[in-house]
Amino acid sequence: MYVITNGNTYITKSRSGKVGKTSNILEAEWFDSIDIANIIFQHAPSKTKGYYIKDLETCYVYKRYTNGKIKFPREVRELIYNNAEGKCVLCGRKITYDDMTLDHIKPLANGGKNTVTNLQCTCEACNKFKGSILPEDFRERVTEIFMYQTSENTKHKIMWSIIRRLLSLCIKL
Ligand SMILES: [Zn+2]
Repeated sequence: MYVITNGNTYITKSRSGKVGKTSNILEAEWFDSIDIANIIFQHAPSKTKGYYIKDLETCYVYKRYTNGKIKFPREVRELIYNNAEGKCVLCGRKITYDDMTLDHIKPLANGGKNTVTNLQCTCEACNKFKGSILPEDFRERVTEIFMYQTSENTKHKIMWSIIRRLLSLCIKL
């Protein structure tokens, strides 16, 4: 369960949907998910200024970027990084903790959620690349690039072996 707080007061929501404040956590509105709590920020931006989402079970704090995106706490980021053994899950490259970007497996725009299970450790390049194409096309697109690059490399190798052979013939002549 999550609450919205600034450390002193909590956000309440009346039955009619009106947003208010209380210092009593028992009167606070409890949310099932970060995403549901996040909607309150959009509904009442001035009332929620300086507030953040707090996970009541873990006490983790979820702040928001100015664009409304959720800033994941270090504990969650570390968990995801360690689970991935410090590697980008898309290209397999080793990355440092600071270089990690959190990728939504199912994008938020496609109904994906801000949950640990929907997040994966990726390098910035892969994250950007993935963000620019539809998730269902991702694998196919990567395969296409791989096949094309491999055949280009092969062509390149064949061309050079021909040139080398021609050169060695020239030298012999
Ligand atoms: Zn990568």
